[in-house]
Amino acid sequence: MAQTKFLLDEEEIPKRWYNIQADLPTPLDPVINPATKEPIKPQDLAPLFPMELIKQEATQERWIPIPEEVREIYRLWRPTPLYRARRLERALKTPAKIYYKWEGVSPPGSHKPNTAVAQAYYNMNEGVKRIATETGAGQWGSALAFATRLFGLDCTIYMVKVSYEQKPYRRILMESWGAKCFPSPSERTEYGRKVLEQDPNCPGSLGIAISEAIKDAVAHEDTHYSLGSVLNHVLLHQTVVGLEAKKQMELTGDYPDVIFGCVGGGSNYSGAVFPFVADKLSGKKPDLQVVACEPKACPTLTKGLYAYDHGDTAGMTPLLKMFTLGKDFVPPPIHAGGLRYHGDAPLLCKLVKEGIMRAKAYHQTEVFKAAITFARTEGFLIAPETAHCVKAAIDEALRCKETGEEKVILFANSGHGHFDLAAYDSYLRGKIIDYEYPVELIKEALKKLPKVGR
Ligand SMILES: *Cc1c(COP(=O)(O)O)cnc(C)c1O
Repeated sequence: MAQTKFLLDEEEIPKRWYNIQADLPTPLDPVINPATKEPIKPQDLAPLFPMELIKQEATQERWIPIPEEVREIYRLWRPTPLYRARRLERALKTPAKIYYKWEGVSPPGSHKPNTAVAQAYYNMNEGVKRIATETGAGQWGSALAFATRLFGLDCTIYMVKVSYEQKPYRRILMESWGAKCFPSPSERTEYGRKVLEQDPNCPGSLGIAISEAIKDAVAHEDTHYSLGSVLNHVLLHQTVVGLEAKKQMELTGDYPDVIFGCVGGGSNYSGAVFPFVADKLSGKKPDLQVVACEPKACPTLTKGLYAYDHGDTAGMTPLLKMFTLGKDFVPPPIHAGGLRYHGDAPLLCKLVKEGIMRAKAYHQTEVFKAAITFARTEGFLIAPETAHCVKAAIDEALRCKETGEEKVILFANSGHGHFDLAAYDSYLRGKIIDYEYPVELIKEALKKLPKVGR
């Protein structure tokens, strides 16, 4: 019988994270303090993050040890399986081999707890009692609710009000793990009260929720803030995915020719591909293709500008050098909620800018069609976010069918879609519309980028 799953023992959970900063051809541009226009100092971040994470953000060390306490919790679902998608290959009649690394087996159902657990641990270790964060549809909030519970920390989550009201299931999941979840804008912070005063019916936004979570953290000595994507330390923690996948690819006897992943802020994609990109940078696999997949409705990498911008809509955060659509970009309400961010992780953007990785954008309907093909061959109903790279993998496999190439394709399968059934329902009833973000609106948003003399 042909092997389908490639598994590792618990002992093979990585002992170190891989820091690609050590191998970049040129160093990252500094994070800039918007007030002084000077590079930010570690102590500027101390009210928000534990010292260990501030260090990880900037370190040039190639390998960062994973604390035993974190590996202990990873054991609940790691190592995650690597699959050969034999049924999908057969359905497509492709000579290509398709592999995927499956992160949907974690308790919250995605890759996000890989960093949530690490962040909760370092906060606990430095005496923090509570973490505040924001969440849109609840994927990040549920990962942090799960992680903080296991380390005995309190968790306060500002959830965008429309999602809080319209998508209750992840809120219930967060509350089941003991987190306190508030619709944002809320009465709990000065900022929230100000927004509500101006517009009592404000539906909320991720930008407002970020601002509330940051204000909450800064106002309380025992409270820190936490971010689920974009930052270097988040990408670092996600490299457990790629490090395991590399070992598992060895078990298959193949090495990927092309790797696809979906990009919202860039954490699952980067975590899955950076350990392979290391081989490209070192010349061990110079022809490796690495492709980031995003929605045409939020085309950060394919249509954005590489420039300094705020990480949030309110303009409170430091300035990051990244591809951006402008912080005032208002993404259309597509179903892949996790891919609606105006920027992307600086590390990932730099590698795209330098031509080491590429990006492609897809429409919603073609993406859902791919997800349904996947569900009907491989069985798993995946997150609409993940479906973007499944579409890319299927396209590549069909291209190989034309040319007869026996390419090895790998994609990062970031999570399940069990809380996205309403979106699948819309697709199955023919109610999903394609949006392509108008170039003129992107140009408008980009005119307002902050001026930094770099
Ligand atoms: C949040 C999420 C994403 C997008 O976030 P990244 O930081 O880009 O990984 C992708 N897939 C799933 C399943 C998610 O929950």
